Amino acid sequence: MPALSPVGRERQTRQRDALMQALRDSARALTPAELCALGQRSVPTLNLSTVYRQLAALLEAGEVLKVDLPGQSARYEAACVRSRHADARGSHDHHHHHFHCTACSRVFPIHACPGTMDDLAPPGFRVARHDLTLHGLCVDCAPGADAHDAVPADESRPASDPAAHACGGSQRC
Ligand SMILES: [Zn+2]
Ligand SMILES: [Zn+2]
Ligand SMILES: [Zn+2]
Repeated sequence: MPALSPVGRERQTRQRDALMQALRDSARALTPAELCALGQRSVPTLNLSTVYRQLAALLEAGEVLKVDLPGQSARYEAACVRSRHADARGSHDHHHHHFHCTACSRVFPIHACPGTMDDLAPPGFRVARHDLTLHGLCVDCAPGADAHDAVPADESRPASDPAAHACGGSQRC
């Protein structure tokens, strides 16, 4: 990277901070366009090419993860804080799963895993990894979400509860 003037470096830091803030505040996997719009709230001069450039650096630094869901354009999310993933037994391979809302197209992380699913593979096969995406309606889009008896949004929204990190944290997810 070419040497930057102090002003240039400060601008880059502000851009990066704005993007990380947007990712953390939204607690979702965001497209670059979504990220740009949110980041512009604190850094109005942000544009899409800046977002792509910052994302490349953040990916390399391991602060951001790319989320590739089948049939979806690439999204990005803040890497999980490792300590959040520690469970009582430790040592599980934590990884992310996602919930894709088919109505609003938003993608929410799910910090839990049904397990290795070894039983699903034919006898003698060894499962090394799996991907799992849930599709449906998020709490904002599900009919009657605001009606009586509805679960409060905070409780049913998977992204908002850090305690929902149920998996072990031996690896960055
Ligand atoms: Zn939705
Ligand atoms: Zn996680
Ligand atoms: Zn899993």
